[in-house]
Amino acid sequence: MKYIDRFMVKPGSAVRLDRVDAAFKDKHKDQASAQDEIERYTKRLRELQYLLYAEGKRSLLIILQAMDAGGKDGTINHVLGNMNPQGARVYGFKVPSAEEAAHDFLWRIHQATPQRGQVAIFNRSHYEDVLVSRVHGFVPKKVWSKRYDLINDFEKNLVDNNTHILKFYLHISEDEQLRRFKQRLDDPARHWKISESDYEEREYWDDYTKAFQEALGRCSTGHAPWFVIPANHKWFRNLVVSQIVVETLESLKMEFPKPAVDIKEVKEKYHKAEEEEAAKNGKKVRDKGRKKDK
Ligand code: ATP
Ligand code: MG
Repeated sequence: MKYIDRFMVKPGSAVRLDRVDAAFKDKHKDQASAQDEIERYTKRLRELQYLLYAEGKRSLLIILQAMDAGGKDGTINHVLGNMNPQGARVYGFKVPSAEEAAHDFLWRIHQATPQRGQVAIFNRSHYEDVLVSRVHGFVPKKVWSKRYDLINDFEKNLVDNNTHILKFYLHISEDEQLRRFKQRLDDPARHWKISESDYEEREYWDDYTKAFQEALGRCSTGHAPWFVIPANHKWFRNLVVSQIVVETLESLKMEFPKPAVDIKEVKEKYHKAEEEEAAKNGKKVRDKGRKKDK
């Protein structure tokens, strides 16, 4: 199934998150049955990122948003763990610093957008400014309500400058969130992640849901779509996200740059002896070389 169509928020549509099954796993019974597919996309993702880097003509921006414990970190590990670090970076957006807060809300975001050839992953983003800021009233309605259009214009500008944008909302259920918090309590290596405010924020679940629905609905555009990813099952979430990233990169029809040198000429000039040897031994040498590459 093409998840890119299935999970994309249609521009202009009203999003109802309560109608999306967070535990959906398509035809797969469990992780084992999806493993081959996951590995295939993971491998392809690496090849395509290399191509994006080599081509150096466009960039990819992946935005991750979720409720707490929604799996942003895990998704980053899975998706980014397979990329060449030279061409990919992660940016986490926390409570704005004094300097950031003294600027417009997009100032810090713009500086982190990827240059051509690069992939950037945002762990939280400018959407916090229509989510947490709205839910907790950090700014008045007349300020946050204008931000949807500002965000769409901002993203359009990036897209017009050859940045491809994919935005993923990792959708978990309230029960799943509580289960994940409990798992953290039981794992000393994750105790540092626990904060009481995570529990307190649960009281605002419905307000966040409302804020997310409006952001997803108003800011899913033809140029920068939102996807609602069923994320109770971590492996299914990874499968869907990597498939969508792969499909998007495939659609760009990227190509390696033309070589700056004449390959034949360089071979003749610097590798004449090996080339002659190779021509003499024909297939034998080629096979040997291929084996060595493996
Ligand atoms: P984890 O999900 O692993 O807990 P995190 O992204 O939640 O990591 P934290 O340091 O726990 O990292 O939280 C970052 C906090 O920063 C969040 O509560 C988020 O709402 C807040 N934040 C991010 N951007 C803004 C913003 N523009 N205005 C106000 N708060 C923001
Ligand atoms: Mg947190």
